[in-house]
Amino acid sequence: MNQPSVIVIGAGVIGSSLAAELTRRGSTVTIVDAAEAGSGTSSATFAWINGNDKSPEAYSLLNFLGVQAYEREAQRGGRWFHQTGMIQVAQSEKEAQKLEGNVARIAWGEYGARLLTRDEVLELEPSLNPMNVVAGAIYPREGWVDVETMCHTLLDRAVQSGATFFPFRTVSEIGQNYVITVDADGHTSRIDADLVVVAAGNGTRSILATAGIDFPLLDPSQNTDAAGEPESSVGIISTTGRVDSGVRHFIRASGIALRPARNGGITFADHPTGGKWAKTDPQIWTVPGVLLERARELYPALRDVAVESVHLGTRVLPKDGLTIADWVDEGRSIYTVATHSGVTLAPHLAAAVADELLGGSRHASLAPFGLARFATV
Ligand SMILES: Cc1cc2nc3c(=O)[nH]c(=O)nc-3n(C[C@H](O)[C@H](O)[C@H](O)COP(=O)(O)OP(=O)(O)OC[C@H]3O[C@@H](n4cnc5c(N)ncnc54)[C@H](O)[C@@H]3O)c2cc1C
Repeated sequence: MNQPSVIVIGAGVIGSSLAAELTRRGSTVTIVDAAEAGSGTSSATFAWINGNDKSPEAYSLLNFLGVQAYEREAQRGGRWFHQTGMIQVAQSEKEAQKLEGNVARIAWGEYGARLLTRDEVLELEPSLNPMNVVAGAIYPREGWVDVETMCHTLLDRAVQSGATFFPFRTVSEIGQNYVITVDADGHTSRIDADLVVVAAGNGTRSILATAGIDFPLLDPSQNTDAAGEPESSVGIISTTGRVDSGVRHFIRASGIALRPARNGGITFADHPTGGKWAKTDPQIWTVPGVLLERARELYPALRDVAVESVHLGTRVLPKDGLTIADWVDEGRSIYTVATHSGVTLAPHLAAAVADELLGGSRHASLAPFGLARFATV
């Protein structure tokens, strides 16, 4: 049976995963990106793969489906998922008590979360400074992803199976069954297909506006937290040079999260301190140094290494913070995927969205993540 032809706008982790899945199923796919593959938010992500401590439960479960999709891909030879397991380190009795609640909340036995004694933490992660460990918990199915390798491998896979990739072409207009692109020299072209999928991260809202669609994605400059206070959607991801740090697992502790990096160094993030920074605030550049000091308190072997690169990323945030994966027009020719936690979700969303595009009916796991929830009565 002939599959519909599809234009995928955006070659980030979502668009690359979807393009590979659609070509695998026999669709003729054209991918368009305003820049290079994987250069948007997917280049400035912490890439923690998890279904941990997210709400509501349907969203947590959707993320867990992402974890399981990575496990299946790894069994088929995918080289980008590093399933190190995540250890949450409690540095005080109070934090240890809180951890008990966290572990109890992830009640699904198959997730495998369990509490660790101080000795168990140090046995699993012997380079941790023992002075900083009171207890811990392990989440063995979590890990991190080398997103650059993932995006490029999946896109190559799609192209080798017959897809066409146009980098450096900005989509300036979309409609039912077509997109208009502009290249670096200002030349415009029209591409036609049966279906259009918008997977353009923070570019999604303006692309859909050209088709008269008001898409409920937050303007990154106008986020607020639960208390209504301004909150930045900017996150800071720092990576050190190559170092024999002894970091084996993905580690979370008070005020820092860190993990091994693809260059042999350590990548660390601003969790949970960075939420209030604006991208233009010069103070933002003090964050990597402060976090490196925190990391050194945990891992003395980081004493002589410096930060080698810093990425500022802007989160892709639907208005309620949850994934949107749905048709945006009544004619069902334009589909949109916009989400935070997109690295965790990408392999599952690729399969579920491909089911919807090619099969027609709503995928059960996506039922809570449609546009109907934003409808005003
Ligand atoms: C600091 C930070 C930390 C994060 N940590 C995690 C984490 O630990 N775990 C996790 O799962 N997720 C995490 N995320 C979220 C995750 O990175 C994103 O959800 C994911 O990268 C989004 O991927 P995407 O493909 O939708 O968007 P993008 O990667 O932004 O890709 C969209 C692409 O569309 C292109 N585009 C945009 N507009 C146009 C246009 N008009 N024409 C053509 N192309 C266009 C862009 O060039 C871009 O390449 C984090 C995000 C940030 C910012």
